[in-house]
Amino acid sequence: MIQRITDKVFVVGMEGSANVVIISIPKGVIVVDTSLFPEKAQKIREFIESVLRKEILFVVNTHYHPDHTFGNVVFEDVQIISSNLTSEKMRMMDEEYLKELPSNGKVVTASKTFEEEYREGPVTLKKVGGHTPDSSVVIFEQERVLVAGDLVFNDLHPEIVQDSKITEWLEVLENLKKLKIDWVIPGHGNHSDKVCLDLMIKYLAKIQRLLDGTITYAEILSDENFSKRKFPELFSWGLENLIAH
Ligand SMILES: [Zn+2]
Repeated sequence: MIQRITDKVFVVGMEGSANVVIISIPKGVIVVDTSLFPEKAQKIREFIESVLRKEILFVVNTHYHPDHTFGNVVFEDVQIISSNLTSEKMRMMDEEYLKELPSNGKVVTASKTFEEEYREGPVTLKKVGGHTPDSSVVIFEQERVLVAGDLVFNDLHPEIVQDSKITEWLEVLENLKKLKIDWVIPGHGNHSDKVCLDLMIKYLAKIQRLLDGTITYAEILSDENFSKRKFPELFSWGLENLIAH
């Protein structure tokens, strides 16, 4: 399903799966994340080239997770950009890690990397950390759009992984709130306005309090910001990951 956010920004996403974002700038199109499935990435490429009739300037990976990077194989002939940490983490994926995944993915890492920030015309890529140490966001100021990657999950529980850092994640979200933006495109879930940043902050702050022992599990479960999010199994999985730290 392709949704138009502004004249220059499109999101391709299905219930819960990782969003792929298409950003159109005068020089061409920037694709943010490539999904877990090469077949899906191929369809997105066809849409860009035959419907939008635009050239792909480059592809960005917001972080190393396979559901954001395994469609890279379809864009091997195009420039792929990520932080160098993302590229490093992808190169470390071993057979053990890969065999757990539904698509027998070929790992294609970035052809160009950046340390902290990369700019292309009106678009800025910025490594911020939080969800994973290499998590990056894409800011398209002119269109007042933030592509938040997995820093934001909207309507569903976030994926808190073993290398997530809750305090860093909270700080990053507070900083993102200061941006002059109208639209936030999450890594998973529907696009929204800045409200979804606040909901993520409240969610993670409560998780932090649960870990500190200042609120109970029952209090969390009665909060709509938890009970109304889809995929509750992600909630318990996230807690397990935090405890395993
Ligand atoms: Zn992720």
